[in-house]
Amino acid sequence: MMNNTKLLNEILDYNQKFVESREYEKYETTKFPNKRAVILTCMDTRLLELLPKAMNLSNGDIKTIKNAGALVSHPFGSIMRSILIAVYQLQAEEVLVIAHHDCGMSGLKAEPVIESMMSRGVTEETFDTLTYSGIDIKKWLHGFDNVTESVEHSVDVIRNHPLMPEGVPVHGLVIDPKTGKLDLVVDGYQD
Ligand SMILES: [Zn+2]
Repeated sequence: MMNNTKLLNEILDYNQKFVESREYEKYETTKFPNKRAVILTCMDTRLLELLPKAMNLSNGDIKTIKNAGALVSHPFGSIMRSILIAVYQLQAEEVLVIAHHDCGMSGLKAEPVIESMMSRGVTEETFDTLTYSGIDIKKWLHGFDNVTESVEHSVDVIRNHPLMPEGVPVHGLVIDPKTGKLDLVVDGYQD
C-alpha cells in the first residue's frame, strides 16, 4: 500500500509541473488518427514506447487499444466495441492486431492464477458461486498456446464480425519486444 501511495504522489507532483510548464503543447493533436488506423496490442511494459517508435508512430497518428495478449476474446466485448467505434466514429480505415513474442498470456494456464487468487483471500466458495452462475473461470483466464495462431484468430474475429463494414483491411503482426522487429502474419490487403 505504501508503494502505491508513493507512486501516485510522484505522478501527481510531476503532473503539476508538466501542465504548468506547458509541456503538453508538443503533443497537441486531434482525436482523429492521422494514419487512419487502429491498433490492438498487448499491455506489455516493453511495448509502451518501443512499439510506436518501431513503427514510426507519434502522438495523434493512430488509435491504440491494449489488453493482456492483444486478444479479442469475445465478439461483443469491449475490445471489439472499441474497434468498431474507431472504424465508424473516429475515421480508422485499417485495423492492425499486434501481438508479441514472450507474452505473459502465452501458455498461461488458469490454475496458477486461481491459486494466486486463493492465496490472497478469494475463497473456494466464491469460485463455486461463479461456477454455479455459469461463468467458466478457467476458460476465461486461459491465455493462448501459439502467438501466430492467436493473431490469426483475432484477425478472423474482427474481419468476420457482423458489424464490420466491407473494405476495412485487418492485418496481423507479431512484434519482438526486444528489437521491435515486426513479423507479418496476416496481410489484410490480400483478402
Ligand atoms: Zn503480452
